Parts: sequence; structure tokens; C-alpha cells
Amino acid sequence: MTVAAARRRVRIRVTGTVQGVGFRPYVHRLAAELGLTGFVLNDERGVVVEAEGEPGAVERLLARLPAEAPPLAAVERVVAEPRPATGERGFAIVESEAGGERLAIVAPDSATCADCLRELFDPGDRRYRYPFVNCTNCGPRFTIVRGVPYDRPLTTMAGFAMCAACRAEYDDPADRRFHAQPNACPACGPRAVLTDAKGRRLAAGDQVAAAAALLREGTIVAVKGLGGWHLACLAADERAVAELRARKRREEKPFALMAAGLEAARALVELSPADEALLLGRERPIVIAPRRADAPVAHAVAPRSAELGVMLPHAPLHHLLLHDVGAPIVLTSGNVSDEPIAYADDDARERLGPIADAFLGHDRPIHMRTDDSVVRATGEGPLLLRRSRGYVPAAVPLPLEAPPLLACGAELKNAFCVAKGRRAWVSHHLGDLTNWETLRSFREGVAHFERLFAVEPEVVAHDLHPDYLPTAYALEREGVELVAVQHHHAHLAACLAEHGEEGPAVGAIYDGTGLGSDGTAWGGELLAGDLEGFERAGHLLPVRLPGGDRAAREPWRMACAWLCAAGADVSRVPPALAGDVPAERWRAVARLAAGGPTAPPTTSAGRLFDAVAALCGVRAVTSYEGQAAIELEACAAPGPARPYPIAVEPGPPVVIDPRETIRCVARDAAAGRPAAAVSARFHAALAAATAEAVAAVAAARGIGTAVLSGGVFCNRRLVEQTARALRAAGLRVLVPRALPPNDGGIAYGQAAVAAARTRGRG
Ligand SMILES: [Zn+2]
Ligand SMILES: [Zn+2]
Repeated sequence: MTVAAARRRVRIRVTGTVQGVGFRPYVHRLAAELGLTGFVLNDERGVVVEAEGEPGAVERLLARLPAEAPPLAAVERVVAEPRPATGERGFAIVESEAGGERLAIVAPDSATCADCLRELFDPGDRRYRYPFVNCTNCGPRFTIVRGVPYDRPLTTMAGFAMCAACRAEYDDPADRRFHAQPNACPACGPRAVLTDAKGRRLAAGDQVAAAAALLREGTIVAVKGLGGWHLACLAADERAVAELRARKRREEKPFALMAAGLEAARALVELSPADEALLLGRERPIVIAPRRADAPVAHAVAPRSAELGVMLPHAPLHHLLLHDVGAPIVLTSGNVSDEPIAYADDDARERLGPIADAFLGHDRPIHMRTDDSVVRATGEGPLLLRRSRGYVPAAVPLPLEAPPLLACGAELKNAFCVAKGRRAWVSHHLGDLTNWETLRSFREGVAHFERLFAVEPEVVAHDLHPDYLPTAYALEREGVELVAVQHHHAHLAACLAEHGEEGPAVGAIYDGTGLGSDGTAWGGELLAGDLEGFERAGHLLPVRLPGGDRAAREPWRMACAWLCAAGADVSRVPPALAGDVPAERWRAVARLAAGGPTAPPTTSAGRLFDAVAALCGVRAVTSYEGQAAIELEACAAPGPARPYPIAVEPGPPVVIDPRETIRCVARDAAAGRPAAAVSARFHAALAAATAEAVAAVAAARGIGTAVLSGGVFCNRRLVEQTARALRAAGLRVLVPRALPPNDGGIAYGQAAVAAARTRGRG
């Protein structure tokens, strides 16, 4: 038997996130170890390997290829086909092939890896204290990419020519920095600089150390990160944090914190092993967890919150800064109130000039603004509240084939989505599109994603609401098929699709408001359906929304509307609101709540939370979306509570009727019962009624799966209690995992619905 006869050769196609993540050197090492010959190359669809050698060794390669892939790779498929053996010698990394359909994927930005971290703090290393150290296993990606293929000239590193030492690493297949596009060192790469708002340098020598010294003295410093500018100050410094809050126009949202490492984070919040894994993950999101009673944190960081949002350093600059400061810092978005985060340097200096005393910047431009991602751990697993830096643009699989499409998303908390085949690329969190700057980011972002992922939309999905800006954008697109998707159906579809399912299921979809199929404002919906369609099988009892959109900012209006609906006495202001609401305004709203064109009916669950929060004195007027509901949850007494009475009318449609609940809330609040007890009993009532109603709808239709989604289900207590009761009723429960339960998941849901409705059509 000749040697050649015993050899086997295969051609392997690897798809997924396999470019710019050290995949080819990895294959090269593996082949060398297994004694295989052949080659590996990148093409526009991913990575191609041809390998030849002992049949057993080829088998081992196929088994190990996906299993041991580099940390930033996400292998979706490995397909091998036999080839005749050629007797080829050696194993080569060959130049990229051009042509064919473009499907290669840009990776998300990733936290500094352990190897780079060691170099960062090693006085003997040439990158000692270099704030931009990175390699193929870590560093900036999405935020610096201007176009594809992912290659240095098409990144914001194009302006930095590599020195001989960096170039040698970049060209060496055995090196950790082989083809690491952002590769740099102190001799050739970006530099940090500490300036005032006018761009004048503030210090000589080590710029990060100088910024840390300012922070320790109580100064507010703007810091340029991966996806935008942050505002920083000492977390324990009452005066500095209060000053930051005042300069950010008295914003009331909790500030995020950054701690140097796990030990420091444990001193701030109670962390489960799952929370710790999230904190340490390469996405490095902000993790919201229960605050420790003795946390060394200024009161103004998160007033009225039982939790704190904490993250660990994600870029080397942050590692250095936290090391030098020696204590946790506030690291909150660099913006004023609800404006988008600043990412361009001149814009940052202009907008943040009145807030920050100093600017720690650098000369590597940010191409794509990305906010920090936010995760909240619950008994039902982690919920992504904001999906952005670290997660985007990783593809989210679809359970069915999609034509090339664009889904425009919701108007607030906007993220859009492009899709093709079985993959959807959901954009970074953009925010409120009624802000002109954000709308511009949306338009530019859509064009960028269409280029990056080679999607030329044939279908454009949008919300039913004709006045939404994303809808207006969809209607501008020419030569496409438009698919209008009801808001709450999109929530249901998003949750089903990310779990790889098409339904049917019964969804309890609770949020602020979204336009319903009947033209009214929905928001407490029980939908029975699948990806293609749905039936409104039930809902919360409709009440009046006195003053329309104003009701969302003034929860006391909803308190009045719900008291009216419950037949309670609204002739005078309830005691808990007496200090907040003048009697004549209360009476005017009570008249509105009786009906009329400026008080349209709504089934909004978010507004029910507002009403209860106002009635028990938690909050009468809000300064940001969802504030009353968030504070109502935060104040609830821990542990189980006896639910208030609540009615579930069997219908059809099933109606959850909390009028008796409202009467109890009002009575207990008037009797001076603490908000903690009222809130806990209200949560228990709504969870029980929701589970009962969903189970009834499911039983009537022979459906075994329940979905909980919509912004209201960002509420840890509500999602845990409702899911528990549904399982006790024998149902399988799905909650959003890969995408936010709030409107950040809408675009992906629209994409899934559009794919289902256009299925089988050319
Ligand atoms: Zn690294
Ligand atoms: Zn260099």
C-alpha cells in the first residue's frame, strides 16, 4: 500500500464570525499539531480549509475545529466534502480569495484578554502601560470598522502606519497579533492625551496617571472609551457625584459604576455566580445587581434604587485608569439628559465642556457610536436591557429563511435590523429617534449595516403607527415590499424567534403603549399566535389616558384615571399626592378621565404601574421613561406577599380587571401602609392574574408555550413570579434572552414576522 492511498483530503467551509479573530493562525497550529498538509484562506463567506493526511488526523481536525476555536470566533457551521489527495507538503495560510457573495462577519468589540493585560502591567514589556494594547483575541472591532473586508485600511486605524516590530507581529502566522488590524504600540499607535475643554494639554508625562490624579481630587473627567465618551468621577465622593448630577441638568437616572475587578465589584453589589460570569464576559456589560448596604458609594449615584449598575474595565485605558485611581468610579454616558452619547472629539468637547473639568481622549477615531450594554440578572436568567457595545454586530439566528430585508424598529429605544437567510444583524441601541441627531445616526447606521453585511433589502418591515419616524423612513424606500407589523406582535415574534421557534404560543406582552390593530393604544396584551399572525385573546381593562402622552410623564394622571375607572372618590387629591398635585389640576384631570378626545382609552400595563406608584406616594412626576415603574419595583418589600384581589373575566376576550386592586391600593395608602408592602402585594396580584389569564387562553387553544415580553417585563419581581405561576400551571415559559424585552427587540421581531409573511415567495 502506498502512502498516498492511505491519505484523505477534505475541503472544509467554516462560516460564522471567523475573520479578524485569529482563525487562520489557529487552523495553522492545529494542522501542524495533527501532521496535516494543505492550506487555509479567508473568502467573502468565511474561512476555507483544505487538509490532507492520516484519516484519523483529518477526523480529529473536524472534531476540534469548532470545539477549540479562538475566543472571539463564533462558528456557525462546518461543512466538509471529500477531495482527491494531492500529496501536497506543508500547510500554508494563503491570500484571500475575492468574488462570490459577501457573508463574512465583523466581530463585536471585545474586552482586553489575559495575555494583553499581562503585557499592560509588565514593566519589561514594550507595551507596558500602553492604553491601546490589543491582539487577535481582543480589542476594538465594530466601533472602528468603516467598511468590509475587515482590513486595516477600512478601519479608523488607517492613519497609523505600523512600526517594524508591530509589522513583524502582524505578518507572523505564529504570533498572537497575526493580522490583528488594530495592532499598535507606543512607537506607532494612538496616544492618550489629557486636555481641558479647549483642547489644551493639562499635564506632561503619563496622561492616564494624570487623569487618575484629577479624579482622586474630586474632579469630573470626560473619558473617551471604545464606543463614545463617558463622564467619570469618584463613586464615593458625595460632592463630586452631586455636582455631576447637577451639571447633567439634574438627571435622575442611576449612574453606572466601574470597578477595577471582581473583588472591587463584590464590595458594591451582591453577585451570584451567574452575575459574576456576566461581569467577566468579553462583552463587559453593565450588570445591575442588588446594592450592598455597606457599598462605598455616594447616595447621589442611584437615589431611590435598591440596585447598582456595575461594569469592569473593557479597554486597556480603563484598566490603567481604575488601577491608578484605586477606587470605583462613576462612568456614565457622555451626554446631557436624553441626548445621544458623544463620540466625535470636537462634539464631545463642545457638549461636555460645561460638565467636565478635563478630557482624557485619544487620537483613534470612533466610527460607530455604541453605548454600554446593560444586563439585569433575574431568577429567569439574565435580561438584556440594552444591547450594544460587546454584543453588536453579532448575528442573531432566525428560525426560518428571510429574504434580504430591513426592519426599522420602534421609535423610542430604537435599534434596527438587517437580515438575510437565517441570520439577523440587530444594530446597536440608537435611542429616541425624535431626537434629530439620533435620527441621523439611524439613517447612517442603516446604510452602514447594509454595506457591512451585503444586504440589499427587498422587504422593509415597519410599525403600524403611521406617524412613527421609522415608519416614515420605511415609506421613503423605493422598490421594496413593505410589511407592517403590530408592535406587540413584534415583541411576541422576537421572543419566539430568538429561541428558534415559530409558535404557536400565548404571549403576555406588557409595555408602555403601542398602536393596536384597532387603532387604540395597546400595552397590556394577551396574544395567541405565531410568527405570521396573532389573535388578541385578552387584555388589561381599558382606562382613559388623560392628556395622552403627558400621562406617561405624569403618573398622578393615571392614578386619577384608575380611581375614576374603579368608581372611587376623585373629588379630592389622595393624601399621598397632596404635596405634588394642586387641587384644581386634579379636578380638571378627573373630568378628562371621564372620557373625551384628549383622553383616549388604553390597556397599557406600564400606565397601571404608574398609577400604583403615584397612589402609594412613590412618584407623581417622572424625569425619564419608566421611572415610576422602576421605583415602584425597587421599593417593594423582599419575599413573598399576599396578592391584592384582582379579577380575571373569562371573556372572550379575557380581561384582567384590577379595579378592586386599585381600591385596595388607595385604601392602604390612605391608611398610611408603607409603599413597600403595597408594591409587593400589587406585584403579586398582577403576576397571579397574568398567569391565570395566559393559562386560560392557552388551555382553550391547546397551546403549551407562554411568552413574557415587553418593557414591563424588565421588572425582575414580575417576570419571576409570573413565570413561576405559569410553570405551576403546566406551561413552558419563554422570556427574551438574546435581545431586550423592551423596544430594543422590536426590529428583530419585525424581521421574523416579515420573513414568515413572505415565506415561499420569490
Ligand atoms: Zn489581547
Ligand atoms: Zn508599533
